[in-house]
Amino acid sequence: MVAMKMQINGKAAGSCGGECFDVRNPATGELLEQVPRGTEEDVALAVEAALSAFEGWASISPQQRGMVFYRAAGLVRQRKEELAALLTQEQGKPLAEARNELEGFSHVLEYYCGLAGSLRGDFIPVKGNGYSFTVKKPLGVCTAIIPWNMPALIMGWKIAPALISGNTFVLKPASSTPLTNLTLASILNEAGLPAGVLNVVTGSGEIAGESLVRSPDVRKISFTGESGTGKRISELAASGMKRVTLELGGSDPMIVCDDANLESAVAGAIRGRFYNCGQTCTAVKRLYVFESVAREFIRKLEEGVKRLKVGNGLDKDTDMGPLNNHSQFEYIKELVAGIEEKGEGRIIAGGKAPSFKGMGKGYFFEPTLVSDVPGDSRLLKEEVFGPLLPIVTVRNLDEAIEEANRSIYGLGASIWTKDLDRIRMGCEQLNAGIIWVNQHLKVAPEVPFGGVKESGFGRENGPDILSEYLETRTIMLKT
Ligand code: NDP
Repeated sequence: MVAMKMQINGKAAGSCGGECFDVRNPATGELLEQVPRGTEEDVALAVEAALSAFEGWASISPQQRGMVFYRAAGLVRQRKEELAALLTQEQGKPLAEARNELEGFSHVLEYYCGLAGSLRGDFIPVKGNGYSFTVKKPLGVCTAIIPWNMPALIMGWKIAPALISGNTFVLKPASSTPLTNLTLASILNEAGLPAGVLNVVTGSGEIAGESLVRSPDVRKISFTGESGTGKRISELAASGMKRVTLELGGSDPMIVCDDANLESAVAGAIRGRFYNCGQTCTAVKRLYVFESVAREFIRKLEEGVKRLKVGNGLDKDTDMGPLNNHSQFEYIKELVAGIEEKGEGRIIAGGKAPSFKGMGKGYFFEPTLVSDVPGDSRLLKEEVFGPLLPIVTVRNLDEAIEEANRSIYGLGASIWTKDLDRIRMGCEQLNAGIIWVNQHLKVAPEVPFGGVKESGFGRENGPDILSEYLETRTIMLKT
């Protein structure tokens, strides 16, 4: 095992404090790497490097910046198998999902490379003699603090629009999944990113994360993670007048109407809930099914869920890997332990940590279905970040939408029906940032992503997000 280093000013760097922390495989408990525990001083060095690199990076054309992305996207594809194995080992997800995520990383780089030519200001005719223009300027040093559920994809979503706009960057990965992020940063450097344009500081949220947010030279913070952490970051950022994008928790409802294609809804619910071991912000976290089809739907769902193979993500036939870390594992165990005693529903599939040969100290939990869940249950109120799906039966669409909207979150929602009136009603009345019809979970860099209510504010992806990384300077010229 070779200790992996932080990336500061284009070079591998240890921590000024000299300390490291362990990164372990959630499927086995085995030690994978030790990485530096970044301090306030390390953060200051990374921000300084990003600040020094800013002028040079901002002054080259967006197309030249895009060429670095283009080369990096190709290098990631060439090394996909090695990177997928690394991502699976630190995160836990099956290899197929890891490959998919890395493809998403390359795709987002290429998408913003394609948008490089669209960065421009405006000419604005005004009354009287003269001309007015707007010029778009990058902000300076931007930063992102990211979670462990989709470390590669979320890194791509954060860095690509920021860097293509001419900003420089400091990234703080989650402490349980820094390895893929560090490797991807070194690939971007290899692809031609000048030193200091992208820096990665590993370390705790409380020290490295908060130091970044407090740094006076950081102009924008993009955060994905828990709503409480997002509020804390937002408060700290407000005192420095920094821009903030918050992608926070979700508790996405899925509504299955009586005219839905049940086979496809069952497949959508299984993928929507159990992909990435249920640890996706837009996972299906509450299922509302019309009572007239509930029996048949639940039977098919139960059959499908019982077929899922839980195991080490490196094994070819694994459908669902372990939870990512000890606190997630403890949370799910504690949540499930009380369900039936507290009258919060009936466990109809899963409900315990499995036992199988070679599982070691892995954080495995069976894919779990809970039916007969009362409306005020904790399972429907919290962001349940794991392989547990609560099912509620409803009489009709009015009731389904009312229940679906009874959440502090508003990230995504889906409606499954063939009826156009119902589709229109769902699209208009569901209170969420993303509405899917007859599918759930699909995301693409071309399409804006983000939520309402406690799911945060600001959007990621799509062309409009570039304005979040640019200042508008107005020039009024008198002739
Ligand atoms: P956090 O919000 O704590 O972690 C996300 C990132 O924020 C990590 O990089 C973390 O660093 C960092 N961080 C933590 N505290 C601070 C702070 N005070 N200032 C700056 N950065 C900070 O989420 P958890 O990992 O603890 O997960 C807990 C719950 O959050 C999950 O059960 C789930 O409900 C939700 N979650 C939602 C996600 C989503 O995509 N919607 C993603 C991840 C979690 P470090 O890793 O070092 O602690």
